[in-house]
Amino acid sequence: MPSNFIDTATIWLHAGKGGDGAVSFHREKFVAAGGPDGGDGGRGGDIVFVADDNLSTLMDFRYKRKYNAADGENGRGARQKGRDAEDLVIRVPRGTVLKEAESGLVVADLSGSEPVVVAKGGRGGWGNARFATPTRQIPRFAKPGLPGEDLHLRLELKVIADVGLIGFPNVGKSTLISVISAAKPKIANYHFTTLTPVLGVVRVADEQSFVCADIPGLIEGAAEGVGLGHDFLRHVERCRLLLHVVDVSGCEGRDPKADFEQINHELANFSAELAQRPQIVLGNKCDVATPEQIEEFRQFIEAKGLTFLPISAATRQGIDNLPKLVYARLQELPPVKVFEPEYVRPDKSAEPKRPFTVEKTGEHEFTVDAPWLERILAGTNVEDYESLQYFQTQLGDSGILDELVRQNVQEDDTIKIGEYEFDYVF
Ligand code: GDP
Ligand code: MG
Repeated sequence: MPSNFIDTATIWLHAGKGGDGAVSFHREKFVAAGGPDGGDGGRGGDIVFVADDNLSTLMDFRYKRKYNAADGENGRGARQKGRDAEDLVIRVPRGTVLKEAESGLVVADLSGSEPVVVAKGGRGGWGNARFATPTRQIPRFAKPGLPGEDLHLRLELKVIADVGLIGFPNVGKSTLISVISAAKPKIANYHFTTLTPVLGVVRVADEQSFVCADIPGLIEGAAEGVGLGHDFLRHVERCRLLLHVVDVSGCEGRDPKADFEQINHELANFSAELAQRPQIVLGNKCDVATPEQIEEFRQFIEAKGLTFLPISAATRQGIDNLPKLVYARLQELPPVKVFEPEYVRPDKSAEPKRPFTVEKTGEHEFTVDAPWLERILAGTNVEDYESLQYFQTQLGDSGILDELVRQNVQEDDTIKIGEYEFDYVF
């Protein structure tokens, strides 16, 4: 496809990590040991997408592929909360669909005006001031900030239009849109590929109009069976109605019936849904076609139960009524397709985020395998009674204690966790 029109890209998002909570103690003259006053960490930055009508390609995303939002600031003493990071705002052309790169599932459709939060920053960790309770007065620990979401995204631009013009190169699509709307696409008498989708507003009457898209033409060589290329069909995916333009005159030595079949074949290859999209067939270049050619093609199309209209974009024959007819047909059809989000973020609360196994490894010995718990242990001050108590709460909350009881743990049995050992005490 033409290399200067970029309508797909793959990028990586990395939302900001939350700031860590602070461990700090209030110091005051004449006060031997003040209370804990470590503040919370700030929130990590989100990554937010916004549709921008001034953009028309995804070119920029070919040059910059990694997008990181800032991390939240760490908490400080004197209960000072770390600053929340600013969100990173990414602008994309309106109509850009974001998909999760590996699964292809839709994350968001940027066809509306609302900004969409695509990757969430992590929450800041609690400072030790939060852990002061009547029974735990000297908490020497705080929580680290949570990591932000990571996402590998595929961006696909799909223009927003009611009607899409499809057909082989040189059948007159660009000429047609230029006579029914104010759009001024390049018109050429050679097999030339339009570089960007051209959108035209077709006015039917006061307050009655629709948007028509002359999508990037077929790839060169389509006639030789190379195929339309998915890069182009992507742009008609939203269209409610397709105007299938065929050169009935066969003035370029082409067979209109074969052309019609091949385009439909390509549509079906691209998506079964697109193949079902309603079509009106426009037999163009009637000014240079014989009545027999037109009649033969009409019968061929009508036998398929489709509407056929003979036109000439060049002489405007059959053009005047076309907008009204298309508009009437659109009234019966569902609105322009918006892609619904399908991608489900890994739900951190649903995941067994604190997996563990408990195994009886001796007559009075149990071994707990839980790497996350070892990390907490490493950050725990085992000399400090309050800190240890907090650790024991984690043991309880995670279900490890229940599991030990289920396996009939006895008083004074040894519990091994990584390189640590405890006696089980009721
Ligand atoms: P596209 O590739 O489908 O966009 O086709 P274009 O609109 O660029 O037209 C290709 C060539 O066909 C140009 O030379 C046009 O002037 C010519 N053409 C378009 N419509 C008609 C028509 O109704 N009659 C005749 N005789 N020529 C036409
Ligand atoms: Mg064209």
